[in-house]
Amino acid sequence: MLRVYDCLTQFHDFSLVAVAAAVCAFGSTLTAMVLRRMLAAKGARRQIQLVMCSLISGTTIWATHVIAMLAYNPLIEHGFDPFLTGVSLAIAILGALMTNIAMGMGKKSLQYIMEGTIFGLTVSSMHYVGTAALIVAGEITWQTDLVAASFIISVVLGIASFHRVVYPVTRICWLGGALLMVMAICVMHFTGMSAAQITPNPTILVPPQVLPDGILGMLITAIVTLIFFVGFSSISIETNLERVAFTNLERVIVHDQLTGLPNRMRLKQALDTLSDDLMSGATVGAAAVTVDIDNFKLVNDLHGQEVGDAVLQVIASRLLAALRPGEFISRIGGDQFVGLISDIASEKDALAFANRISLLIQKVVSLENCAVAVSASLGVATSFHDGLGPNELVQKSDHAMFRAKQNLDERICIYDAELDQQLRNKLTLINDMRNALDRNQLSLVYQLQNETASETPVGCEALLRWLHPEKGDISPAVFIPLAEESGLINDIGNWVLRTACFEAASWEQPWSIAINVAPQQLLQPTLLQDLANALSESGLAASRLELEITEASVIHDQANTLKVLNKIKEMGIRIAMDDFGTGYSSLATLQTFPFDQIKIDRSFVTDIHHDKYRAAIVRFTLSLGEAFGISVLAEGVETAEELDFLKVEGCNFVQGFYFGKPMSTENVRRLTMIEKTALAS
Ligand code: C2E
Ligand code: MG
Ligand code: MG
Repeated sequence: MLRVYDCLTQFHDFSLVAVAAAVCAFGSTLTAMVLRRMLAAKGARRQIQLVMCSLISGTTIWATHVIAMLAYNPLIEHGFDPFLTGVSLAIAILGALMTNIAMGMGKKSLQYIMEGTIFGLTVSSMHYVGTAALIVAGEITWQTDLVAASFIISVVLGIASFHRVVYPVTRICWLGGALLMVMAICVMHFTGMSAAQITPNPTILVPPQVLPDGILGMLITAIVTLIFFVGFSSISIETNLERVAFTNLERVIVHDQLTGLPNRMRLKQALDTLSDDLMSGATVGAAAVTVDIDNFKLVNDLHGQEVGDAVLQVIASRLLAALRPGEFISRIGGDQFVGLISDIASEKDALAFANRISLLIQKVVSLENCAVAVSASLGVATSFHDGLGPNELVQKSDHAMFRAKQNLDERICIYDAELDQQLRNKLTLINDMRNALDRNQLSLVYQLQNETASETPVGCEALLRWLHPEKGDISPAVFIPLAEESGLINDIGNWVLRTACFEAASWEQPWSIAINVAPQQLLQPTLLQDLANALSESGLAASRLELEITEASVIHDQANTLKVLNKIKEMGIRIAMDDFGTGYSSLATLQTFPFDQIKIDRSFVTDIHHDKYRAAIVRFTLSLGEAFGISVLAEGVETAEELDFLKVEGCNFVQGFYFGKPMSTENVRRLTMIEKTALAS
């Protein structure tokens, strides 16, 4: 009797055993790689990979077995039956195919058990059919416990291998899966071999048509080379295609479609790197430059969107072409760009970079049908003063750019904490004001206007209030100029007009109602219609409405303003000149414009009885009013002495804290009721 196991150590050709192990390792690695890809693929690609994987896996199992058999020399005449050898190859490939088909079936949690089991059974069945192909001049008997052990080992290691591949914990888990696959094949093989015992029997003849070792060796080499070559090539082609696709995708994600410049996402990456370099000292100094093209909307409006796009493309390519080492430029939105510069020694270098950008933008863009010239506002923040954090620099350069936008003399501004914070606060407040109307944060209070001699109330001035949710009451002296600057005054002014008209129409007294009208509102083409609507809808008589305008309203576009004011007058609405004496007071204005009343500013009324200069101004204004036939109202009357002085001088009307602070809607309504009862009794 001759034990195969003993032969392993005594009669095996170890160089061939090494070849079998190498083929097994290479084939298993290839199998695990394709398996991983197959799991992630869908449709036809998955089917192709399934077939490819089955061919590689089946060939690996079979080739390992046959090479290991070739390594064995029983020292007696032997050969391989070609039919059974072919059947063993078919079993290996079909078994691998079933394993892979099982990948797409069943519950995922148990999937690997089914696949591992089929794989293990395939390896063992192929082994025993393949061993049956070995024809020796002797008798082969089997030790059943070792045969059973070989089946169990291949199934258990198969399950372990597929578990690794299907449920990877790390990116290299599939390598563990490949190693377990190698073990499943090799350990099974040698356990199976040790189960076989050969008893030489010279009476048994090895038939002449049996495949000799040399031919079988060549056959295996050809099959293995072909299959592995196809498998390896397809993996590397696919990997390359994936890499190219990924690179293209990455390019699209971090670049702006229109100009091809890096986009906001890429800028963020660049800022992170820059910030790390600054903190580690890899770069000594750096700066961010925020660029916003001025009035770019105008380019789109005048020439069309296509020209606007073309201008941006030309500017972008100019900026890109002019970049030097350590410089970066990105487009972060419509007409906004952000540049970064590293390795600078001082703020001067940052300014030079900003200046270069500015000049490149200013160069005329000549297109097929037109030439467009634009300029830009730029803000600069440097790591020398403004921080090293990834967002700090861009945020601050952005603030500085806003300042440049407001200031036409300085196209490039360097971040200044105080100035930029003020501007920021202002912009935040304007932004809050946009929502103030919708959120019911605005209201009106009413200040009495009285006849001077009798002190009887004759009307009220409506004054606007804004209760900010966080900042509390904000003075109109603060927010009205911002509303004017931002254009919000038109909507707000119309709301004031309507609210005041409806309110006054509900009073029990036919008092007049004065509202303040900003210069911009007078230029609104809808003003006359708004006035007509407010009056007709509220039912307020036009004669009860008075518009207070300031001298600032009449200095620009006098002809147009005069036309508008005359039309307002024709509607029966009264017009008062507010804050008289504080602006560009011109006697010609009084003569030209159809005022019904002059309101002397409170700065001339305070302490009028003590101050001879103020007294002179007030007396002069009163005589002007008399000459022009215009009534005069003195604002800011706080004391009885001031009132007495105005009585003596014959001022027609007065307004001020002496008669009370501006009142809420409820209080003014109550007062009109009291007045009505008093008059009736
Ligand atoms: P104005 O039209 O000259 O309004 C008179 C301002 O003087 C009011 O301040 C009022 O509260 C204050 N005042 C009245 N009597 C006295 C007094 O005896 N002593 C003192 N120290 N102050 C007195 P307010 O309400 O803060 O309004 C300031 C300015 O805001 C107004 O000046 C007006 O130019 C503007 N404004 C207020 N409401 C509106 C509005 O609805 N639209 C527009 N465009 N401007 C408004
Ligand atoms: Mg006023
Ligand atoms: Mg005033």
